[in-house]
Amino acid sequence: MTEELFRTDHYLKRCEATVTAVDPRGIQLDRTVFYVMGGGQPGDSGTLTLAGGSVVRIADTRKGDGQGEILHVPEAGQPVPQPGDKVVAEIDWQRRHRHMRIHTSLHLLCAVIPAGVTGGQIGDGKGRLDFDTQDTLDKDAIAEQVNKLIAEDHAVGVRWITDGELAAKPDLVRTMSVKPPSGQGRVRLLDIEGVDLQPCGGTHVARTGEIGRVVITKIESKGKHNRRVNIAFDE
Ligand SMILES: [Zn+2]
Repeated sequence: MTEELFRTDHYLKRCEATVTAVDPRGIQLDRTVFYVMGGGQPGDSGTLTLAGGSVVRIADTRKGDGQGEILHVPEAGQPVPQPGDKVVAEIDWQRRHRHMRIHTSLHLLCAVIPAGVTGGQIGDGKGRLDFDTQDTLDKDAIAEQVNKLIAEDHAVGVRWITDGELAAKPDLVRTMSVKPPSGQGRVRLLDIEGVDLQPCGGTHVARTGEIGRVVITKIESKGKHNRRVNIAFDE
């Protein structure tokens, strides 16, 4: 099991760690700051620096088949560390921070559009959510409301509830296709004060103002009950 430092501190850029396993799928560490791909958010890229100074460039971070396995996937032709090696693991912070900004903006979209979410994706500087609705959505009105929530600079925080509390409040779960992970006794909620509260395991900025202005680039009809709303940085 890898200690998932990125779950508790979204601003942690590096950590010291020990290599626990190396195989063709990737490199495992005893602890990591690398976000592992999931919930529509890409895995982190970055570097592992060995004690001797050699650097392993990491292209992606993926879940392995085993319980709790986190695989740091190196770029081709990188030095191969050995189990027991000490490394400094450091993420590509600029890329991650852009993911955090877009991810948080998608929570604001959820707050503005009152419909279930059936899918979503986060990319570099852009993202999208699919809403289960037949309504015609006005992209300029949505952009204005999201930008208002950004300008209001709401605090973003994490709360935990028990599986039982979540089961008693099914309206908290906005994602219709993905059930939040349960069975661990507790579930992490992302709380944008007074705006949005839902289970989420991704990484977010600390205040909505950090997102910066956004635009709704397009709204697509993907079937009778599905509107795909695309958001991007206004840059
Ligand atoms: Zn989230």
